[in-house]
Amino acid sequence: MALTPEQIAEIEAQRANSAQTLRAVSPGMEGRLYTAHPVLDHGLIRVIDYMGDDEAICQAARVSYGKGTKAVSDDRGLIRYLMRHWHSTPFEMCEVKFHVKLPVFVARQWIRHRTANVNEYSARYSILDREFYIPSADQLAAQSKQNNQGRGEVLQGEEAARVLDLLREDAMRSYDHYEDMLTPDTDTGKLGLARELARMNLPANIYTQWYWKIDLHNLFHFLRLRADPHAQYEIRVYAETMCDIVKDWVPSAYEAFEDYRLGGVNLSGKAVEVLKRRLAGEDVTQETSGMSKGEWREFAGVWG
Ligand SMILES: Cc1cc2nc3c(=O)[nH]c(=O)nc-3n(C[C@H](O)[C@H](O)[C@H](O)COP(=O)(O)OP(=O)(O)OC[C@H]3O[C@@H](n4cnc5c(N)ncnc54)[C@H](O)[C@@H]3O)c2cc1C
Repeated sequence: MALTPEQIAEIEAQRANSAQTLRAVSPGMEGRLYTAHPVLDHGLIRVIDYMGDDEAICQAARVSYGKGTKAVSDDRGLIRYLMRHWHSTPFEMCEVKFHVKLPVFVARQWIRHRTANVNEYSARYSILDREFYIPSADQLAAQSKQNNQGRGEVLQGEEAARVLDLLREDAMRSYDHYEDMLTPDTDTGKLGLARELARMNLPANIYTQWYWKIDLHNLFHFLRLRADPHAQYEIRVYAETMCDIVKDWVPSAYEAFEDYRLGGVNLSGKAVEVLKRRLAGEDVTQETSGMSKGEWREFAGVWG
């Protein structure tokens, strides 16, 4: 992630400018505000604004007039109760606005999460930068043999070098053509193609940027899906960075989320029955479990 000296100065100016407020402030989030957290080779995540903290979740749940007289330990217990029982609306009282710079193919996965408000950099209005995601050597992997939606063995030697060359060459060539198409030339009468059309030939590893605002309940849903090991590495690293930020913002809510959602397991009715039969000493197999082979594989992956 290379920020220009002007961008660094703008961020520093924002961080130097503080104002008194009556609103709830999260000390952990204040430390994160505006700071650019690098992700991938040119990407970033920055918190632009936020509303609420752990207390705000409890205030909403209790519909209280002020802070109330409850201790932090009571708040933590209430938050865990709300998370455990899928009582989601108090978490929706907290909001966060991120500035994210990400490759277009990651943005396509990300935008499927419909419960956020998004404003993307306009490539009709502005010219995109010459910035492309090129995977690091340890992420350049072959198709997984077990999982159609995943990667397996890391490419080595000449094959890895050739893939990297192709990625770089294609990116640079298409950007050269993009610039060529855009640029007018008064000597030859060349008009230059409109930005909204010239962008057509750019590959999906070019970087875009957006502001992305979401409430905490829906952010947790996003993080549960995208910080999961099944999510593609390139979106997972963004989700993991956000997890670190949310942990600082709302420590009790994040702790409950980590425990009940990230670390928890959903059980089907069949799975509950199998566990009960096992605890009673029965040797249950896939054939006698009533589960499909795939379901059994996932069940055995967690419970052995
Ligand atoms: C590992 C992984 C692999 C994936 N593979 C594919 C794939 O191959 N192809 C593909 O197309 N997608 C794929 N997806 C995307 C996935 O199917 C979802 O579209 C995406 O994760 C967004 O989930 P969501 O709809 O729950 O989230 P959000 O859009 O954030 O919605 C959150 C929740 O709000 C509710 N909601 C939102 N909008 C509506 C609505 N209009 N109607 C009813 N309820 C609504 C739902 O309860 C939803 O769960 C994949 C996702 C993951 C994590």
